[in-house]
Amino acid sequence: DRALQRVDAATAALRDDIDRREAVEQQLRRREEELVGFAGVVAHDLRSPLARITGYADFLREEAAPRLDPEHRDFLERLYGGAQRMQSLIDDLLNYATAENQTLRRTEVDLNRLVADVIRDRVGGTGAQQSAIVVGPLPSVDGDPVLLRQVVDNLVGNALKYTPAGQQPCIEIAGTPQDAGGWCIEVADRGIGIPAAQRASVFDPFIRADGSQHYHGTGLGLAIVHRIIERHGGTVGVAENPGGGSRFWFTVPAVPPAADSTVTAERAG
Ligand code: ADP
Repeated sequence: DRALQRVDAATAALRDDIDRREAVEQQLRRREEELVGFAGVVAHDLRSPLARITGYADFLREEAAPRLDPEHRDFLERLYGGAQRMQSLIDDLLNYATAENQTLRRTEVDLNRLVADVIRDRVGGTGAQQSAIVVGPLPSVDGDPVLLRQVVDNLVGNALKYTPAGQQPCIEIAGTPQDAGGWCIEVADRGIGIPAAQRASVFDPFIRADGSQHYHGTGLGLAIVHRIIERHGGTVGVAENPGGGSRFWFTVPAVPPAADSTVTAERAG
């Protein structure tokens, strides 16, 4: 009996502990949502003044640079480069806020088309880079086409970016059906890879792994991917690519069987 009481007490304590933890997690989540909402508003307001800075700096690079001495030309290049990096940070912040807040518009999304569009936009329709991306047959899935496109675009963009200059990219994209229904989509590359100890954290906002400091980035792309997939009820992950490089994957729900097909079948039967 005493043993039973002790077990009861321990269970109650554990439950209290879990409740407390859940409350803290909920609070953190709310804070994060507020912060992301705020970041979104700020990013939005910074967009137009920054567009002016980039626009005028670009104009000066084209028109005035030949008349400038080398030092001033260098200042102008730095001004333009800095403004461009700020622009991509702001774009990423806005995308992050959107991934967090925008209502999902779910529909049937043909991933073959979506992936082909992303590749065309990223590397053009022909050429060596195009043939460096091998795409297996992909399914149609149930999701928001705009947000899923962002997921694929971020993963393909990273696979290209983190392949060292001078090395021909080698990217494989494939889909596998899952036991529980749904699909697992993989994007594998032969790039610089991610140290094992850092793989778990690259999906957190602003986290960049060792080795990435030589490539421009904000550390937000994978946080956006993570959030979008989470909102679709899926999961994300990254493993080492056995051939060297990284193998990113995410899961998405399959297209549900057409709602009216059973009705039609019943009627027909
Ligand atoms: P960013 O690329 O802007 O730094 P991401 O959120 O897209 O931000 O990625 C976070 C980090 O994960 C990167 O800084 C890099 O260290 C690592 N990473 C992402 N994709 C790859 C990849 N395909 N190969 C190697 N490292 C990657």
